Amino acid sequence: RFKDAQKKAAAHLRKIRTSIPKDAPSDIAAFIDSHLLMLDDSLLGQVPIDIINRELCNAEWALKLQRDQLVEVFDQMHDDYLRTRRNDVEHVIGVIQRFLADRDYGEKTQSVDRKNRIIVADDLTPADTIVLQHQHVAGFITELGGSTSHTAILARSLGIPAVVAAHNARRLLNEGEEIILNGSTGVVAAAADDELLGEYRKKQREEKKYRRELQLLKDKAAVTRDRIRIKMMVNVDLAEDVRSLKKSGAEGIGLYRTEFLYLGRDRMTEENEQVQTYRKVLRAMEGKPVTIRTLDLGAEKEFDPEYTGPLAPNPALGLRAIRRSLKDPEIFLMQLRAILRASAYGPVRVMFPMLTNLHELDQALQLFETAKEQLRRRRKKYDRNVRIGGMIEVPAAALLSPTLVKRLDFLSIGTNDLIQYTLAIDRIDDEVNYLYDPLHPSVLRLISMVVEAGARAGVPVAMCGEMASDTHYTRLLLGLGLKEYSVHPSALLEVKKVIRDSDVSALRRKCRSILNHADQAQIPQLVASL
Ligand code: PEP
Ligand code: MG
Repeated sequence: RFKDAQKKAAAHLRKIRTSIPKDAPSDIAAFIDSHLLMLDDSLLGQVPIDIINRELCNAEWALKLQRDQLVEVFDQMHDDYLRTRRNDVEHVIGVIQRFLADRDYGEKTQSVDRKNRIIVADDLTPADTIVLQHQHVAGFITELGGSTSHTAILARSLGIPAVVAAHNARRLLNEGEEIILNGSTGVVAAAADDELLGEYRKKQREEKKYRRELQLLKDKAAVTRDRIRIKMMVNVDLAEDVRSLKKSGAEGIGLYRTEFLYLGRDRMTEENEQVQTYRKVLRAMEGKPVTIRTLDLGAEKEFDPEYTGPLAPNPALGLRAIRRSLKDPEIFLMQLRAILRASAYGPVRVMFPMLTNLHELDQALQLFETAKEQLRRRRKKYDRNVRIGGMIEVPAAALLSPTLVKRLDFLSIGTNDLIQYTLAIDRIDDEVNYLYDPLHPSVLRLISMVVEAGARAGVPVAMCGEMASDTHYTRLLLGLGLKEYSVHPSALLEVKKVIRDSDVSALRRKCRSILNHADQAQIPQLVASL
């Protein structure tokens, strides 16, 4: 019975995998693949059978014993992200258990009519989410899970309204009852009166209208009311993500995070393979520029399984990004050669992460020349005018920007790190997260300084940190003089809409006074009123 249930669970997941929409982000298939791998692992495939043999218990009980063992291991983990991955183990076990309880479970779930219904459940697996999307559900509520669970992430990228971790939802809500579900605010309302229903129906119409309007902006330029042209680019983590970029209306890729080339591999992708990957991205962008950032390994992005260096006492301040590349010039040269070779097929720009001083820049530029020389000897084609840029992610680099603009073709402000290093707070440490403040006057002054340095020298300055994707800051950044935004593909049209509704000259005056405002506590309010 166990083997039969396990086989059916795998067939069920494989069937769901084939039904993923073609333009869905690649991580959706990756979730299902990871669940299939877990199903195949001996910890779930063989150990329960051993338990059945040893304890002479039934399959359900054996699976439960093994589940308890595995969950305990996850519960002891210190890393928040890994700890929440116990959900995935539970989800996979849950699927086998459903097939143990009902051999025809898979057929039944796919044939129920759930159109326009809100599903209320204890928990849902990522695979359930995909099935629900196919059945056109109106939304779902789960008692368990969290906002970073894969089920929640999937609901977001598939556009299903959802509220998770709503304890007691099944007890408090009745079958067939009319309920209101607001995925944006996390509100669930039952027994709503006509007034509340009317209010939400209005909201729903407004939201639909807003989404339609956003789509109309796709082919429109990002021009402010006072005719200032703003450039809108996107950030890309995986080459596969470019498939969904066509819908975003981007003018190019402002940040391609190449360290993800390491993901799921046991070594860095070889030169030829890298060239092919970059070519794929270039082809998908159809002649629009692609900014390839050299590897930003280290700290929270340690993907290289061969890295044997010491565990730094303070990894965020340790050997990461350009420091790491300069320490391992062979890997760096290989990447520079691959980027240069790709430049023969389309407009490529190269960008160095986390520069701190001119010496690092000199070394990186020298190695770039070496890479060109190596290609000349190998008679490989490349574009001789590949533009070179640097990321401003450390206060030292921001303060140095008047000098950096003399040596570089463009700059890009990485606020995720710039905020972390300016305010001395680890961006992944929960304990100090409350101090992470994009509106801190010191952060704003550094941003303003970099933008000004670029404007004075005629060197383009973009922003590719999360701050650029957040519409709360769009007007502030315009007022500080930013002219290039590199954002999440899903945020592009929203940011563009705010830009088109803004008047830069008016914003500039107001933002200057925000920069010099004495009372830090008032800044958020001032920014909100821009
Ligand atoms: C940043 O630091 O803002 C940035 C864009 O780089 P990453 O998030 O990859 O560190
Ligand atoms: Mg960074």
